[in-house]
Amino acid sequence: MSIDVTVKPYWQNFIGGQWTDASDGGRITILNPATAEPLAEVAKATAKDVDRAVAAARGCVSSRALSGMRPRIRGQLLVKMGRKLRARKEEISELLTLDCGKRISEARAEVEGSARYLEFYGGLAPAIEGRYIPLGDGYVDYVVPVPYGVTAHIIPWNYPCGMIARSLAPALAAGNAAVIKTSELDPLSGYIFAELAAGAGLPDGAVNILCGTGSEAGAALAAHDDIDQIVFTGSVATGQSIMRAAVNRIVPCVLELGGKSAGIVFPDADLDNVVNNVVTGIFENSGQVCDSMSRLIVHKDINDELLDRLKARVGALSIGPGIDDHDITPLISEKQLDRVAAYAELGREEGARAVCGGHKDGRGPGFFMAPTVFADVTPEMRINHEEIFGPVLTTLQFTTAQEAVSIANGTDFGLAAGIFTADLDRALWCSERLEAGQVHVNEWGVGGPETPFGGFKSSGIGREKGLEAMSSYYQSKNVGMRRLNQPS
Ligand code: NAD
Repeated sequence: MSIDVTVKPYWQNFIGGQWTDASDGGRITILNPATAEPLAEVAKATAKDVDRAVAAARGCVSSRALSGMRPRIRGQLLVKMGRKLRARKEEISELLTLDCGKRISEARAEVEGSARYLEFYGGLAPAIEGRYIPLGDGYVDYVVPVPYGVTAHIIPWNYPCGMIARSLAPALAAGNAAVIKTSELDPLSGYIFAELAAGAGLPDGAVNILCGTGSEAGAALAAHDDIDQIVFTGSVATGQSIMRAAVNRIVPCVLELGGKSAGIVFPDADLDNVVNNVVTGIFENSGQVCDSMSRLIVHKDINDELLDRLKARVGALSIGPGIDDHDITPLISEKQLDRVAAYAELGREEGARAVCGGHKDGRGPGFFMAPTVFADVTPEMRINHEEIFGPVLTTLQFTTAQEAVSIANGTDFGLAAGIFTADLDRALWCSERLEAGQVHVNEWGVGGPETPFGGFKSSGIGREKGLEAMSSYYQSKNVGMRRLNQPS
C-alpha cells in the first residue's frame, strides 16, 4: 500500500542562515525515479551563489563563532541536530524514497544512520585533543588541533542524506564551517540539514546548502579560491577533476570514489548466509552503492549449487516503487538505467551467461532494471573490473585461495572485500592479502559510524567515519616557547 506524501513544490538554497533563490532565478526539476514524473523544483545554484555561500562560511570562520565555542557546547549542538533528525525520521525517509527511489526501509536506515553520525561526532567534539611535548627546562611546546576553516562537501546521489551527515558531522565537530553542494538528481533530503542547523542554534554561515549541477556549482566550489578543504564522494573521473582543481591552491582532499568489491566463497561457507548477503550486498539500493558486493568469487566445487540457490532467491525478489518497500527499486535516472543495461549487454557479448535478469525490467515509466546475476565471468572481462553501479552481480570461479585473492585484487579499485568461510585461518590469511579499505568476514558491510571507511588504490584518499575521520578536518599547529629570564 502506497504512503500518501505531500512534497513541497519548490526548495531554495540556504546561505548564511537565509533561504534564497538562485542568483539568476534558475531552477532544476527533480524527478521521482519510480514514476519519471516531476516531484519538485529546486533553486539551481550558479557560481555567484557558490561565492556567496563560501563568503558566508568564511564569515563564520573569521568570527570564530564555531571554532571558539567550547567544544562540549559545539558537540551538544550536533547531538541536538541528530535527535531532531531522528524525531522526523518517518517524514524524511518518505521524502528520501520519493526523491532517490530507494525502498522505504532502507531510507529509514539511512536517516537513522545520519542521526548516529551527528551524535557520534557530537560526542567526540570535546575529546579532540592536542599534546604537550617536553623540550627540557625553559621550554614549553604544545600541539593544537586547528580546524581547516571553510570545508567544501560535494555529495553523490546514492545516499543523499547519509553522505551529508557523514562529512558534515566531523567537520562541524572540529569547528569548521561547511558549504555543501548536493546532487542535482536528488537534493531534497539535504535541505533538512539547514533546518537542523538553524533549529539547533548553530551560527549563521556554519552550514550552507546549495543544489546545482556538477559542471557549474560543483566545479566552481572545488576551484574556489577561498575554501580550505574538500570532501568529495562520487565517481573516479569527477574525483580526478576535483583533485586537479584542488592542486592550484594545495587544498587537502578526502576522496571517496568507486569500487568493484568482491566476496570470496569457500566450500565450507554457510550458503544460506551467502545468499542473504548477496541480497543485501548487491541488491540493496539496487546496487547503487559504492562498496556493494558486485562480484562473487566462488570455489568451483560449490559454484553450481550456489548459482541454483541465487537463481531461485534473486528471481523471487519483488520489483517496484521504494515507497511500497519493494526489494528492487528504480535506478536514479534514465541515464543510469541505460548505462547499467548497456553493461548487461556487454556482459553477454563478452561471453558471460545471465542466470537471471540481464535487461531492463520493462515496467515503466520508472527506471527499473531487473536484478541480474552473471555466471561464467572471467577476470579479463570488462564487467569484472569496471564499476556498473546497478543491480548486477558477476560471479567467477576459483580453485585455490591464492587464485581467489588474486582475482579479488585484480582491479584498479580497493574499497571493500569479503570472505565467507567457517575456517578462521582462511579468513585471516585472505584478510592479510586483500587490497581493500574494509574486509568483511561472513557478513557484508559489518561496521557503522564508529568504523573507518575508505578506499585503497583508485577507490579514494583519506578515511571517513570512525575516529580516523576526525583527522581529515583539522590540522596541527605546534606552539613552542622559550623562557628568557630567571625569576628573581
Ligand atoms: P558523480 O561523480 O557524477 O557526482 C558526484 C557529485 O559530484 C555530484 O554532486 C555532482 O554534481 C558533482 N560533480 C559532477 N561533476 C563535477 C565537477 N566537474 N566538479 C565538481 N563536482 C562535480 O558521481 P555520482 O554519479 O553522483 O555517484 C556515483 C559514483 O559515486 C559511483 O562511482 C560510486 O561508486 C561513487 N560513490 C562512492 C562512495 C564512497 O563512499 N566511496 C559513496 C557513494 C558513491
